[in-house]
Parts: sequence; C-alpha cells; structure tokens
Amino acid sequence: MSTSLEMKNIQKFYGPLHVVKDFDLHIQPGEFVTFLGPSGSGKTTALKMIAGFETPTSGDIFLGTRSIVDLPAYERGIGMVFQNYALFPHMTVAENVAFPLTVRKTPRKDVEEKLAKALQLVKMDQYSSRYPNQLSGGQQQRIALARAIVFNPSILLMDEPLGALDRNLREHMKIEIMRIQKELNMTVVFVTHDQDEALTMSDRIAVINEGRLVQVDDSKGLYSKPKNRFVASFVGESN
Ligand code: ADP
Repeated sequence: MSTSLEMKNIQKFYGPLHVVKDFDLHIQPGEFVTFLGPSGSGKTTALKMIAGFETPTSGDIFLGTRSIVDLPAYERGIGMVFQNYALFPHMTVAENVAFPLTVRKTPRKDVEEKLAKALQLVKMDQYSSRYPNQLSGGQQQRIALARAIVFNPSILLMDEPLGALDRNLREHMKIEIMRIQKELNMTVVFVTHDQDEALTMSDRIAVINEGRLVQVDDSKGLYSKPKNRFVASFVGESN
C-alpha cells in the first residue's frame, strides 16, 4: 500500500503570480515528508496539485511509475485530511468513514470489514452511530483520518490537520498520526507552518519559501547544516 511520489519540475502560476517554482522532489514508499514554510509560501497549492484539486502549469507528478497529472482526483487513490475535518454533518460517523467505499461501489461485506478496521485504528469504534456535531474536535479529526485511509490509499496527504486543535490535543494527535503511519507503513505528505510539528514527526522536511524548495533534509541536517539564513532562522524559531 505504500508508494513512491515524485514531483518533476512542477510550476504553478495563478495568472502572473508564480506560486510554485521548480519543484523537484522524490518521496520514498513509507516515507513521512513535511512541507514546512510560512503562510503564503505555496505549501497548500503544492499539496492540491498532488491531490488533483489543482493542475500544474507545467511539470509531471508520478505515483510509483504512473503519471497522475491527467487523472481526476478521485482516480488517484490518494487520501486527504484537511484542517477543518470536512465531515458531512448529516451523516453518521459510520456513513462518513464508509463514504469513499460507497463511491467506489465496494461490496457490502468488504465495506463492513474495512469500516470496522479503520474505526478501530483511530480508536473510534464506539462512536459509529454518532453525528459529527456530537464529537469533540480531536474526535472529528480522527474520523476524518479514518475516512482518508479506509480505502487503502497509496499515499496520504494532510493539510495542517492539527491546526484547529488545542495544544494538548495536538500533542496527542501528533503521536496518533505517527503511530498509524508506522502501523500502515504509509507514504505521507504533511503540510504545516509549525516547525516543532515538522521536526518531530517527519523523516524529511521540505522547507519552502516564496514557492521554492529551499532545502529538503531530516531534522538533524536542517539544524546542523542549514542551507541559508532563511532555513536557519525559520527552522530555529519556536512557537
Ligand atoms: P500556503 O499553503 O503556504 O499558505 P498557498 O499555497 O495557499 O500557501 O498560497 C500560495 C500563494 O498562492 C499565495 O500568495 C496565495 O495568495 C496564492 N493563491 C493560492 N490559491 C490561489 C488561487 N486559487 N488564485 C490565486 N492565487 C492563489
């Protein structure tokens, strides 16, 4: 279930605005890579191009050996978690999590099995008949995570998934996400502007500034050999 991801010379313009510049990045199967950069640096746009919600102006993206830039989002087999959970308010937890399976016309017997497994993985199997507004923020994010992984995606994308949680919950969810990623050996691309999150969770961190990958390295490399002053000061900051 884990797949490599490659971005090859990706450019994205919004009109005259060049927001993603010369992205070349190879992510290994099972690797946890974080896009870290200040607000407006192009992190979300880069993630949306992987997910299929935005089209690169030029360049190519590969999942394993397959080019995905021309595939619609729902055919890419990619799971995604957003900061605001994006759960369907009129659906129960079970219906929310099973939704990607329903869309894919998964046989009923498999739906039950996969649903139970995903809810167990996020420790929410007791909550399947609740509605999102009957859950805490942390619980809603667990459900969003279960929904993103229920169909065995080849890669999981997370856009500031901890941003709406308070400090204690954030610490807890960080550990849970890392546990689940290891348990499933999943390839993850994680977006944050929070240095601490990036440094503690990732195998490698792609530091982004003004649309450009400034340095891609593990936390030790970023600390000991920052490529320039931006990396040194941004990575060294604490919230
Ligand atoms: P980040 O996720 O790092 O905060 P974004 O990828 O959201 O950054 O945005 C990068 C730049 O692209 C910003 O200047 C933003 O205003 C601009 N931008 C993002 N989406 C659009 C859009 N749909 N149309 C025009 N400009 C956009």
